Amino acid sequence: METDKDNYGRLNFVSSTTTNASSSFGGENATSNSTITQIPNAAMGPIIPEKGYLVEEIRDNLYWVTDGSYNTMFLVTDEGIVAINAPPSIGQNYLNAIAEITDKPITHVIYSHAHLDHIGAAGIFPKNATYIAHQDTSAELKRAMSLAKNDSTIPPIPTISFPNNYMLQIGNQTLNLDYYGDNHMPGNLFIYAPNQKTLMLVDVVFPGWVPFVYLAIAEDVAGFIKAHDIALNNYDFDTFVGGHLTRLGTRDDVITQQEFVSDLEKAAGKANSEVQFSDIAKQVGRFDNPWLLYSKYIDALDKNCVETMLSKWEGRLGGAQEFMSTHCFAMTEAGKVNPSVNAILQNNTMIASPN
Ligand SMILES: [Zn+2]
Repeated sequence: METDKDNYGRLNFVSSTTTNASSSFGGENATSNSTITQIPNAAMGPIIPEKGYLVEEIRDNLYWVTDGSYNTMFLVTDEGIVAINAPPSIGQNYLNAIAEITDKPITHVIYSHAHLDHIGAAGIFPKNATYIAHQDTSAELKRAMSLAKNDSTIPPIPTISFPNNYMLQIGNQTLNLDYYGDNHMPGNLFIYAPNQKTLMLVDVVFPGWVPFVYLAIAEDVAGFIKAHDIALNNYDFDTFVGGHLTRLGTRDDVITQQEFVSDLEKAAGKANSEVQFSDIAKQVGRFDNPWLLYSKYIDALDKNCVETMLSKWEGRLGGAQEFMSTHCFAMTEAGKVNPSVNAILQNNTMIASPN
């Protein structure tokens, strides 16, 4: 992959978030905070051209396309294009990007998972293309179809769906679609291009940035944690496509986020053991409103965990200030109620204090 370090700059949406007090992106903290959050170098990506998107070859006829907020990839084969996902934020520009590279037809479409912010624009692709997804993705889209009064907004239902793994081979090009169970949501695939040593896993790892809020709204936090190990242990890759934000990733970005998540497990375990509900209840001093007690309890857990995490991560990954409390909430809460995450946090606590 060609990357020009000098060509990297701050994205428009990032600079407007951090300098324009009226911006709504980032929530209340960002709007009320007049200090400008520095974006770490690791979070910087390529400048997006005026036309609104950037398309670049990763390697050997595999391309990525980005608008600086979302990204995805497509593969040029002897027979035609295999397009992965269709983020609505890129929309029609996805077709423009492909047209810059080739006039071959789009013959295959792959969905990484069912979320509409990644596949909602799939209606731009030819109706006669082959649409491929995990069976859980297919089931969710069929459920949406059954509920919809206007089904034109629902991406095409997959023509091929599968329970575990699927290998798409066209000419000398290959994509492996692998499923290991729930992580971000049921059906979320590891999409691997072996010739190009490129792994795509959407909404799990965010190169240069902390994840989107609440561990990117992971439906299965233990599966989310495990997905980092699967990526690193099962795949020989040097380019990573995460589906979001400013730039492509590398193996090191996955290792960095694995370390971030491991630290979060320890910080959440520490908060859960140090902050006692009974102590908070005594401090509040009234017991007629359990939700008031819980809100103060959550605040205290949050404060404990965020302090531990920010000291190490705010200079290392983008968005740490803005989203850390959501990650702390996701991990402390899952650590209390989810048996698998509870076990993971307990293991960490035992390692931290062997006595
Ligand atoms: Zn998603």
